Amino acid sequence: ESFEGDQSGNPQPRQTPGVLYSKIMPDPVRKPELLAWTEDLAIELGIHKPNGKDIELLGGNFVNPTMKPYAACYAGHQFGNWAGQLGDGRAITLGEWPVSPEKSWELQLKGAGMTPYSRRADGRAVLRSSVREYLMSEAMYHLGVPTTRALSLVATGEPVRRDMFYDGRPANEPGAIVMRAAPSFLRFGNFEMLAARKEYDHLRQLADWTIEKFHPHIKGEDQTLTWFKEVLEKTATMVVEWLRVGFVHGVMNTDNMSILGLTIDYGPFSFLDAYDPNFSPNTTDHPGLRYAFGKQHSIAYWNLGCLANAIAPLFDDTTELIKVLESFAPVFYEKYYAMKAGKMGLDEVKGNDIELIDQFEDLLATLQPDMTIFYQLLIELPEDLRDEQSVALHFAPALYDQLNATELTLLSKNIKNYQARMELNNTSRDLAKSQMRTNNPRFILRNFLLYQAIQDLEKGDDGLFKRLQAALQDPYSDQHDEFFGLRPAWANEQPGSATLSCSS
Ligand code: AMP
Ligand code: MG
Ligand code: MG
Repeated sequence: ESFEGDQSGNPQPRQTPGVLYSKIMPDPVRKPELLAWTEDLAIELGIHKPNGKDIELLGGNFVNPTMKPYAACYAGHQFGNWAGQLGDGRAITLGEWPVSPEKSWELQLKGAGMTPYSRRADGRAVLRSSVREYLMSEAMYHLGVPTTRALSLVATGEPVRRDMFYDGRPANEPGAIVMRAAPSFLRFGNFEMLAARKEYDHLRQLADWTIEKFHPHIKGEDQTLTWFKEVLEKTATMVVEWLRVGFVHGVMNTDNMSILGLTIDYGPFSFLDAYDPNFSPNTTDHPGLRYAFGKQHSIAYWNLGCLANAIAPLFDDTTELIKVLESFAPVFYEKYYAMKAGKMGLDEVKGNDIELIDQFEDLLATLQPDMTIFYQLLIELPEDLRDEQSVALHFAPALYDQLNATELTLLSKNIKNYQARMELNNTSRDLAKSQMRTNNPRFILRNFLLYQAIQDLEKGDDGLFKRLQAALQDPYSDQHDEFFGLRPAWANEQPGSATLSCSS
């Protein structure tokens, strides 16, 4: 309520200069049915598992009188180009849910119908993409990665028409709605929109509001600069966490960059199976592979440059702002090497560790083992393992391809150096192992598993969905080893099982 909005309630696609949001009601659906519910989040929110009338709310059929639903207006750079106004085209915020004096959750229905920002699309989401967002945002949460969350998944009972997915022909797919939750869904793009329209009063207000609400400790003279520094640090942390667990976002456009450093807008994302830094799950992202796994930190920096550019009008002199932006590399790399050391069980980053870590990175990029399985095997590496053949045998379960002689030598050389370095730890091997277990997930929500779960669910069988939902809540344990294994060969060929398109 602190901001000016367009109160017309009209979903007609249009430009909305002068406002930060448009009031809009969810569009009712035929037959909402609750498919999944996140109990631990519900407990934090103090909400009971819904039945009857409450499910209508989760499907957009009913709005509580205290709610003031709206769609936010934002812009963005997509694939490196200025895209102008975008906005919530299929997400409608119902309101804010306070859980304590310091904390509240913004609750949003994704797939709830047209808004002024739907452009040429329908405002809906298919079951396939909704299952992916629902499960993956929860998987990321339980991995300890900063992320938005998902409270519910509801089937709408209505078909949604989608072009070109599995076989290039238009088809009807079941529709669904996710209720997602975050302290805020503000993006870099909200600030870019106001800057592009030269609405500097709004820009100032939005920055001040964001600082007051989410960075109250920095209020004061240089608060805008300090805020940008904190956004940069949070963004760097988020990307380091993605690299730790092997997550590729796939669409790091500035409209998909949370101002709070949360993983947001789950689309054509994927975990890595084979360790390929050039892997991008997004079939729209070619031929440049702009959003490939190993490029995410440089894209984060590029996106922060867009944000800096957007807030520059708030500064009389931008020298310091540019300095903060240029601090991205040192900020990122310090976090990055600490993260890698944690994965490898090093007590700290010391001596020649950076070289060792870089060589290890090159090794993985060359051998392209399964990332998750490789690190699990590294935890269990016997201390006296030295000769090439036994090293090869130890890591064989992580390999998609047989090693040639050069690769074998490279592997055992790196493992030898690593063993020597582990001797220099000031902590015990057991402590190193338990540290590695907390940094290396054993269960990841692989794309082919999601693909299978969705296929089953579309046929009315939620067995695999439920098993994945249980496993993702406990990703560092060995309790879900039914999913511990290489990606099967069939998944390489199946569209939607390894790579995905943006449209969903
Ligand atoms: P994305 O890259 O998926 O975050 O989407 C970019 C923009 O397209 C955002 O403004 C979305 O709200 C909008 N959008 C994506 N899918 C739809 C849809 N089915 N209906 C309306 N708007 C959409
Ligand atoms: Mg988006
Ligand atoms: Mg999206």
